[in-house]
Amino acid sequence: MADRKKQVAYIDGLSSVRAVRRSGRNADGTHYRPSSEKLPVVETPSDPQPVKPAKRIGQTALPAKFNLICYECGFRFVISGALKDTLCPKCHAVLSARDHRINSAWSGVIRTVGTVSILPGANPEGGSITTRLLVLEADAGSASLTVTDTLELCTGGSFDPTRASLQDVSVRADHCVLVRQRLQCRNLDLHGELTADVAVTGLLTIRAGGCLRGSAHAAHWTVEEGGGVCARMTIAPGEPHAPATGDCTPTPPRKNSSRKSK
Ligand SMILES: [Zn+2]
Repeated sequence: MADRKKQVAYIDGLSSVRAVRRSGRNADGTHYRPSSEKLPVVETPSDPQPVKPAKRIGQTALPAKFNLICYECGFRFVISGALKDTLCPKCHAVLSARDHRINSAWSGVIRTVGTVSILPGANPEGGSITTRLLVLEADAGSASLTVTDTLELCTGGSFDPTRASLQDVSVRADHCVLVRQRLQCRNLDLHGELTADVAVTGLLTIRAGGCLRGSAHAAHWTVEEGGGVCARMTIAPGEPHAPATGDCTPTPPRKNSSRKSK
């Protein structure tokens, strides 16, 4: 790299001839005095510049993707980037992406592709909620719930599964949730503890620190090291069967009880 930076010196023809004559047999002649012309000097940088590494291209973050379902026509589509009000590609309805937080008495209709949080202190008195993501930290009461992506359950969160249309369900880490009716969903992801009778048409995942009590029917399941199972399990493809009489009464969650790990 440093060699490339050396300057190349060129001398013209006349200077070449004079130089040859000075160095040859006539160099001592009086006719050929030392030339007053100075040949260009090739300068060698005494302190060569350090070679800098080529600039790296920084890592590029892929934009977030959101799986949306139009709450007007049910069309599924994906958007990238920031989640904001968007048009349904099929029916051209404007879909709100507004987030809602309910922390007091409430009744009404919410339809959004954003997030709805039912916080401690909330008291939904009926009403209807259609949302992409629902965070449940309190009793949803008799509200009708339609969750097009994920229902996130926290301690204190409860709802009536017979009034809910769900896709994926997760339980937050360090939270204990009790669902008294049969919980039916597509995928179930347990970071915390769930006591319920669950019917999972997709994948049941029990993470480290998570625990399932009660009974479960799932098409597939995986238990990470540190995950606990204290439930009657049925792993079989296809639609889960209805529970036999008396099967759907999960025991309430017990703190600090022993877990049977897989
Ligand atoms: Zn639509």
